[in-house]
Formats: sequence, C-alpha cells, structure tokens
Amino acid sequence: VFSNLTPQRAHLIIEDCLQGFRSHRPTVGKIGETYSSALTYASHEAEAGLRRALTMSPAEVVSEVAASGIRGRGGAGFPTGTKWRLAAAAKGDLKYIVCNADEGEPGTFKDRILLSRFADVVFEGMTIAAYAVGAREGVIYLRAEYTFLKTQLEAALAARRQTGLLGKNILGRDGFDFDIRIHMGAGAYVCGEETALIESLEGRRGHPRNRPPYPIDVGLNGMPTVVNNVETLSSISCILARGAAWFASIGTERSKGFKLFSVSGDCTRPGVYELPWGITVEELLETVGGGNAKAVQVGGYSGQLIPASQFDRRLAYEDLGIGGSVIVYGQDRDMLDVAENYFEFFVDESCGQCTPCRDGNVKLLEGIRALRQGKCSSRYLNELISLCETIQVSSKCGLGQLSPNILIAINTHFRDEILARPVMGQH
Ligand code: NAD
Ligand code: SF4
Repeated sequence: VFSNLTPQRAHLIIEDCLQGFRSHRPTVGKIGETYSSALTYASHEAEAGLRRALTMSPAEVVSEVAASGIRGRGGAGFPTGTKWRLAAAAKGDLKYIVCNADEGEPGTFKDRILLSRFADVVFEGMTIAAYAVGAREGVIYLRAEYTFLKTQLEAALAARRQTGLLGKNILGRDGFDFDIRIHMGAGAYVCGEETALIESLEGRRGHPRNRPPYPIDVGLNGMPTVVNNVETLSSISCILARGAAWFASIGTERSKGFKLFSVSGDCTRPGVYELPWGITVEELLETVGGGNAKAVQVGGYSGQLIPASQFDRRLAYEDLGIGGSVIVYGQDRDMLDVAENYFEFFVDESCGQCTPCRDGNVKLLEGIRALRQGKCSSRYLNELISLCETIQVSSKCGLGQLSPNILIAINTHFRDEILARPVMGQH
C-alpha cells in the first residue's frame, strides 16, 4: 500500500492530516486508497468503527481485531486480539479497560499528539474494547506531565456522554453501558509498567507486581483488566471502520499496519511520523533529515542502539520490533555522554524494590563517570558489562531488565571510542 510513497511524501501525510483535522475539511485525498491512519480517520470517519462494532457480536469484534494482526503499540508487541480474547473469556463481576497514557519513555511523544488532537479516536477505541470484552468501566491513566491535557479530555468525555457515545445504552444498544474516567499519574516512569500502573490506580505506591497472573486475569481491583496503549486503541477504531483486511494489507508479514514514530535528536526534521512497518532505519533517517547519523536509538532508552553499519535493518517485528521513539545521534555525539544521561534517568526512576536495579544502576552510573574521566581500564569496562548482564537477568520488571542495554551496545559498537580516551588501556 505504501510502496509508492517516498519518505518525503510520508512526512507530508502527517502534515496534511493535521491540516485537515484543524480545518475540518479533507485535504488528504481519498481515504483508504493510498494510506490511512487514526489521524485521517479522526477528520473524516469519526465513530464509524464503533457503529460497525455494534452491528457485530462481541466475539466477532475480537475476531476482527485478531484478524487485523495488530500488536500492542506500547513497545512489547503482544497481539491485541489475543489479549482481548483472553480478557473476554476471563471470569469477573466487573471488567476494566485501562488506557495506558503514562508515556514516560524518553524521546516518546506520539501519545501526547494523539490525546491532544485525536482524543475521540482513543475514546472510541476504548468503547469498542469494552464492548468486545464485556467491560463497564474505563480509565485513562494520564501521566502527570500531561496534566495540561486533562481539562480538554474531560470536556471531550462530557461531550461523548451528551451524544450517547458513553454512559447507558450506548448508541441505543440495550445493556451496553460504559464510561471513562481520568486518573492522574504522579510523575513516575515505572508506572508505565502495567502492574505498577494498576497498583497506583488502587492508591498504592507504583511498584510492579510479579506476573503471572497477568492483568487480563487479575487486574484493577482484582478484576480482569485490558491495559492497552493509547496508539493501539486509536488504531482499533480504524480497523473496525475499514475492516481487518485493509489493516493487514499494510506493513509486513508479521508487522501489520502503520506505526507512529516520535523522532528527536540530531536531525533536521524532528516530529511525529506515521509510517508503515517494514521501512529501514536508513529510509526513516532520510525522511527526518538525519542522514549523517552515527547511531540511532530505537524504542526509547530501554530500546536498542543501532550503529550506522546496520542502518539497512527494518523497523518491523521480524527485525526491530520497537516502541514509538527514535533518537538520532550525530557524528559529534560522545557515546559515554549519552550513556551517562541514560543512567542518570534510570537511577532516578528505579522504584527501588529490587537490589540489582536499585543499586546496580547506581554502580553503572559511577562506572560510566569514571570512564568519562579516563580513570579506568578496559578490564574495569569488562566488569561493568558483566554487571550489566547480572542486572538484566535478575531484575523484576522491564526497567531493570532493559536499562543495561545501552552500555552493552556502546561497548559492542563504540568500544574503540571509549578506549581511545586519555589514560585508558594503561591499567
Ligand atoms: P510484556 O511482553 O511482558 O507484556 C506485554 C503485554 O502483553 C502486557 O499487557 C501483558 O499483560 C500482556 N501479556 C504478555 N504475556 C501474556 C500472557 N501470557 N497472557 C496474557 N497477557 C500477556 O511486556 P511489558 O513488560 O508489559 O512491557 C515492556 C515494553 O514496554 C518494552 O518493550 C518497553 O520498550 C516498553 N516501554 C514503553 C514505554 C512507553 O512509554 N510507551 C515506557 C517504558 C517501556
Ligand atoms: Fe523496581 Fe527496578 Fe525492580 Fe523494576 S527492576 S521492580 S523498577 S527496582
């Protein structure tokens, strides 16, 4: 579907869509013909997905989502249809739909765009999810840093209640009752982890729980709970409106549809881009004006560092199945400076529950600072890498399991740069 698009055209699509939405008139050509997204959907087809879903049985809606092949857009890529099927089958007096809007991964700001400009598409996706799995209550867990969005989101929810899109007997469907409330986070990155988020929703400290049980069995208030990312829910509305086959025709064999990428760093055109799965890092860099990069971090601070020699790799679950952020590092970047920045973040955000993450990240930060000052040897660097591996395997949640990735990658791809510092290699 996207094969005829140049990267420049893909960029224009986002611009056009935003223009179209702002002015409430179509400026993007025929919907569904060349490209489509939550962004164009919001401007032109609002609520068509929910209306179609209500003509189907809940099980048919789940099957439609499964057939589309969509996978969770929060980063982990769990098949959304499978999650909904499990939640629909789970036993509980009450079920919940939780929209994870705790977009805390550094360099990630795609959900902020969706919520600030296309909130109704997200609410519609939540309502379809509720219908599919039999939930009656929805919660948006909104990161504290997005407090500025709360008033407009409340107003959008109130408008939906007034027009029968939330509340009792939604769109005249007898017995389909569902409403959404907003719950504010308090500024903790770890609350983006779904079980920490649920703890926080229940009024406790945001400490991750052991899984299983997964939230689809034991979630909010002990009840089956679907936790989906903002972007996942926004795509659901389009899938229902246009059909699973349309969505599945975009992307690659194992990576269906399109993806929003938040792009920042050393490039001339940073921003949010919507692109089909399967493009290469090189194509993305061409689109965003990052042609002279020496490395790219995909998937945020907990993602993967890709050196220039691997820019032919594909953004797709077959290769780099990632979350929504891309950080470009230019030729002049000092990679140890980059690592120090990452570990300052992880030390700050570790919830402190388990020793490898709480203390190990502090040790790594101290080690990186020593390396930056040229105080340590290559043997010391090797010891730090060994500590990285220990933290990876012994931490309880994704934060600790993924935080060492950056130092391991810098050691793999830029070890010469580290060892070239003054004093290095002499001990
Ligand atoms: P995960 O693979 O453990 O789980 C992903 C989802 O699938 C969860 O909702 C989980 O409940 C569900 N799931 C997995 N196995 C299941 C099973 N057997 N039965 C039922 N449900 C199941 O990943 P995770 O630890 O939840 O998330 C890690 C990801 O989050 C990483 O890829 C990281 O990049 C990303 N992340 C994103 C942000 C952000 O701001 N979007 C921030 C930090 C991390
Ligand atoms: Fe907390 Fe880190 Fe352990 Fe996760 S890995 S539970 S953030 S201490």
